[in-house]
Amino acid sequence: MASKKLAPFGTSIFSEMSTLAVKHEAINLSQGFPDFEGPSELIEWACEALRSGNNQYARSMGHPRLVSAIAEKALRDHGLVYDPYTEVVVTSGGTEAIASTILSLIEPGDEVILLEPFYDSYLPCVAMAGGVPRFTTLRAPRFEVDLDELRSLFTARTRLLILNTPHNPTGKVFTRQELELIAKCVEDHDGVVLSDEVYEHLTFGNARHVPMASVPGMRERTISIGSTGKTFSLTGWKVGWATGPERLIRAVQSAHQFVTFATATPLQLAVAKALTTQGEAYFKRFCEEYTERRDYLVAALRDVGFDPVTPDGAYFVLAGFSRLSSLDDCAFARELVVKHKVAAIPPSVFYAARPGEGRKLLRFAFCKKMETLRAAAARLQAMAGRTPGFL
Ligand code: GLN
Repeated sequence: MASKKLAPFGTSIFSEMSTLAVKHEAINLSQGFPDFEGPSELIEWACEALRSGNNQYARSMGHPRLVSAIAEKALRDHGLVYDPYTEVVVTSGGTEAIASTILSLIEPGDEVILLEPFYDSYLPCVAMAGGVPRFTTLRAPRFEVDLDELRSLFTARTRLLILNTPHNPTGKVFTRQELELIAKCVEDHDGVVLSDEVYEHLTFGNARHVPMASVPGMRERTISIGSTGKTFSLTGWKVGWATGPERLIRAVQSAHQFVTFATATPLQLAVAKALTTQGEAYFKRFCEEYTERRDYLVAALRDVGFDPVTPDGAYFVLAGFSRLSSLDDCAFARELVVKHKVAAIPPSVFYAARPGEGRKLLRFAFCKKMETLRAAAARLQAMAGRTPGFL
């Protein structure tokens, strides 16, 4: 039996929907994981590392080769300078980086600002740390920050603001101007930002990822989180990282060493090689393929009567379904998986203050093969009583 702190959170919606998808033989567009392999070179490099005696604990903060590759990447991509040995921690996935950051920075009673809808692990981590969450809502369809509401949340006890850009589940990519306004509020209250940027390489069209740490003054008060799962389509490897100024990274490390101690050594070596060798060509193709998947899914959803919001980043589409059903999101997601064999996420679970904002939406993941998306489109057409044949 879980402690009182964790009891309210039950089972993660991602596990719940993926289990239902298997049970009902549904096409799984719920949990965000690719149904295709990551680059074969990475898999080879991991095998080589496994076969050449790299099977004991790595350095707790991360293998020297990987922390160096992460620091080089931050410099190359964003002009951000981090000391690989004191300002980078390799974690077992982005989710562990989030947990170790929150557990190490928050004292019981400290206030943490969350922008809803938010990734499901943020709130349980705040609860485990004894923090007090405060919420502001990004409202559909543009999901803009309500600056007045945001400002009103800051108090003398505010310690942390959790940001996510590109954003799961809305697909919003925060602009530099928005980040500057948020940064100003944080600086005025001497707070820290946990910036979850695991989808940094997934932006579409003219949208560009801007790291919070690149906003003037923010490098010193931002912990940025990155992930291999998203960047190299290897979510099962669970290799993530946190970068930030030494004083904050020292704190993250103080939790990380007692949470997982270290991350799988051979996988760290393969990722280090990937970060130093996969260049522009890889990322260009990566974005082109994801743009095709996004455009197809948005068009397919619109075609059957959903109202999708075209995402600028990440790999999810939020789609309104008021024209298709009068149920709420949880009941409609269940009907969809049981009767029509397509699994999606009911996003009201990503809200705390205004769950009503998510009750007429579903989240569909498009990190899937085109054939999977086509098969899902055919089932949705059947649901809507349409003759199959779209695209
Ligand atoms: N990030 C993924 C999503 O939003 C899932 C992560 C998980 O299952 N914990 O779907």
